[in-house]
Amino acid sequence: MTIFAHREFDGHEEVVFCHDKTSGLKAIVAIHNTRRGPSLGGCRMWPYANEDEALTDVLRLSKGMTYKSALADLPYGGGKSVIIGDSHRDKSDALFRAMAGFVESLGGRYIIAEDVGVTQADVEIMQHHTGHVAGTRSGGAGDPSPSTAYGVYMGIKAAVAHRLGKDSLQGIHVAVQGLGQVGSHLCGYLHRDGARLTVTDIDPSAISRAEAAFEAQSVSPDAIVTVQADVFAPCALGAVIDDDSLPQLKAAIVAGSANNQLAEARHGVELAKRGVLYAPDYVINAGGVINISHEGPGYKKSEAERHVARIYETLREIFRRAEAEGIPTSQAADALALERLNSVSAAA
Ligand code: NAD
Repeated sequence: MTIFAHREFDGHEEVVFCHDKTSGLKAIVAIHNTRRGPSLGGCRMWPYANEDEALTDVLRLSKGMTYKSALADLPYGGGKSVIIGDSHRDKSDALFRAMAGFVESLGGRYIIAEDVGVTQADVEIMQHHTGHVAGTRSGGAGDPSPSTAYGVYMGIKAAVAHRLGKDSLQGIHVAVQGLGQVGSHLCGYLHRDGARLTVTDIDPSAISRAEAAFEAQSVSPDAIVTVQADVFAPCALGAVIDDDSLPQLKAAIVAGSANNQLAEARHGVELAKRGVLYAPDYVINAGGVINISHEGPGYKKSEAERHVARIYETLREIFRRAEAEGIPTSQAADALALERLNSVSAAA
């Protein structure tokens, strides 16, 4: 395994490998960039097949957080952590205590929050051992998922307006992959606006709930990409847009919450070539972290929501720029994020 020459290294400031013998913790904290402020990003617990897979994931996710915070105009840098393990089997209080100890030792350069496999309850265990946590119920802005879902909903509206020329989601067909924390809230927003939903999940009970609550149709997990929908909304795991799924994709728009939706950067180019409008993942799924940035004693939900709603305008700007410059939206988003990042460093 290489670190500095790793294909996803991208000038990371700090990569910390954490091991605690007593609890069995094996984790990696990646701090990509702190130019705008301390790095903020969730902690993912996942049974990675090997350490290189865990390192690749944390490096990609942490860079995404730098770009996400810059585009959302937040006073944070980008960081992320991963715990190597099965969240259903390997969790313990001792494990999260040890993780919190490592976060504390970073002196505030990394602020930890929840992510796939790490719940609010887990973050609250860590809160007793480090002050560098976000998104908790006590003193925090709470579960970020509803805000993430609201941002994705606003992003879908922006994409539909740009690509289909419609201001309303009435009758728009959305195929939602993954009905977890974000996907289920998103279905609520879409259903209320009169969108037609086709959904899937690997958990049959999540599908039954969505069928009942949102009048959704369902398909098997491997058929969701092939649904003849207006919008494909990936809200499960990453790398869903790859060489296999691309030729099967029928939707005119890809817009969902999952991180790292493109298996490789070239898949963003491929989407553009096929005329599919892609809402870059780190732009559309920034609602949770935007909400967290408002937390504190003066937290006002309405202000946080107004900030999340700006995702609509940011995406419209990215779509216009991509069209004007003849580049994929993924590249237009990266360019805008780097401009915002560099403008801060120039002023600092
Ligand atoms: P979650 O774990 O609550 O939900 C994921 C859902 O996807 C689960 O119901 C799971 O059963 C389902 N799933 C897994 N594999 C699947 C497959 N192959 N096909 C269909 N369904 C599958 O996670 P979440 O918090 O809802 O997050 C969803 C995605 O959004 C993740 O990629 C996460 O990184 C990203 N994201 C979440 C937030 C947040 O605030 N929660 C913020 C930014 C990005």
